[in-house]
Amino acid sequence: MQFEIAVLPGDGIGPDVITEGIKVLEAIGKRFNHSFNLHEGLVGGAAIDAEGTALSDATIKMCRQADAVLLGAVGGPKWDDPLAKVHPEDGLLKLRGELGLFANLRPVKVSPMLVDSTNLKPEVIRGADFIFVRELTGGLYFAQPKKRWETAKGRMATDSMTYSEQEIERIVRVGFELARLRRKKLTSVDKANVLESSRLWRQVAMEVAKEYPDVALDHMLVDACSMRLIQNPTYFDVLVTENMFGDILTDEASMLAGSMGMLPSASLAGVPKEGVRIFGMYEPIHGSAPRRAGLDMANPIAIILSVAMMLRYSLGLDKEASVIEKAVDDVLSQGYRTYDIMAEGKTKVGTAEMGDLIAKKVKG
Ligand code: NAD
Repeated sequence: MQFEIAVLPGDGIGPDVITEGIKVLEAIGKRFNHSFNLHEGLVGGAAIDAEGTALSDATIKMCRQADAVLLGAVGGPKWDDPLAKVHPEDGLLKLRGELGLFANLRPVKVSPMLVDSTNLKPEVIRGADFIFVRELTGGLYFAQPKKRWETAKGRMATDSMTYSEQEIERIVRVGFELARLRRKKLTSVDKANVLESSRLWRQVAMEVAKEYPDVALDHMLVDACSMRLIQNPTYFDVLVTENMFGDILTDEASMLAGSMGMLPSASLAGVPKEGVRIFGMYEPIHGSAPRRAGLDMANPIAIILSVAMMLRYSLGLDKEASVIEKAVDDVLSQGYRTYDIMAEGKTKVGTAEMGDLIAKKVKG
């Protein structure tokens, strides 16, 4: 089969890891006889420097014409000035908004090989395997009003936590559909004891639940959830939550997997169902780690697992996706580690060697 893939390397370690993601994608192409036509574009700081905007209209058009988008990471100290008119993250938010990518899927799976490489007790995290569904185009990051202004008493700023029932319904539905394909348990995370938007969230979740009697739904306050994630992470199967809660909780959850460099994500424009191809953007959950950029240090596993998610959700290539996931497990079980997941007695490798090892396993 033939596919069109938009590739946006971005800044910092973004280009370092994306090279490895493409290496593995091409290994899949060779083994299964698919061709992936890559269309490269700029996003984030790189786009600000070259095009004066964090995401040009031409790049959005290129992404729209593709089957899927693969993105590295954006940002860095060069573009950090809070007073700057444009920020690298504007490019990401614009992509999510313009492409309608409302559902962000972030699987967290503790690899048995890395159970000793984290800061948490092995007996607590062993077996943890859950998926976060984060709402991505609403809530505090998007809703209006969002502004700063001057008053006689000083400066003020506001962001709005606003959700419509339609926005809540479609994201909760993603949670239920994924739960159906897994252990049939959905935890909806909110702050319904304080926030009006969360009370609506909970009410809509309970209404949608009537269509999914086979899935057990529970509700958890976001503060309790942040505690439960490290106290008893095996409790969870699928979690669904609003934009900012999901942003914060998934960084916390990444520590269960050993490093930010291990966690992939998919941002989808539709509800995932078996046998349905959905347009999406795929990226690691980590940022641009500017201090590691260009040093052949960054862990490329997050982007490589993002490539696997792309094959599964946007290209309908489930078997190929599983081949990548198994190749990652095999390379880890042979003891190869990048610096961030390094442990005693293991073999330390750089970004490119980790990519080579995984691509070689994929080729079979
Ligand atoms: P970060 O994710 O870049 O780094 C956090 C920590 O994790 C650092 O210690 C870093 O070295 C490490 N790390 C991250 N990815 C790694 C990898 N693949 N392998 C090994 N170690 C890895 O977050 P930060 O330091 O808070 O932010 C750096 C820049 O990235 C900022 O400009 C921020 O705005 C931006 N950012 C971008 C995104 C994105 O593009 N989606 C997300 C978060 C932060």
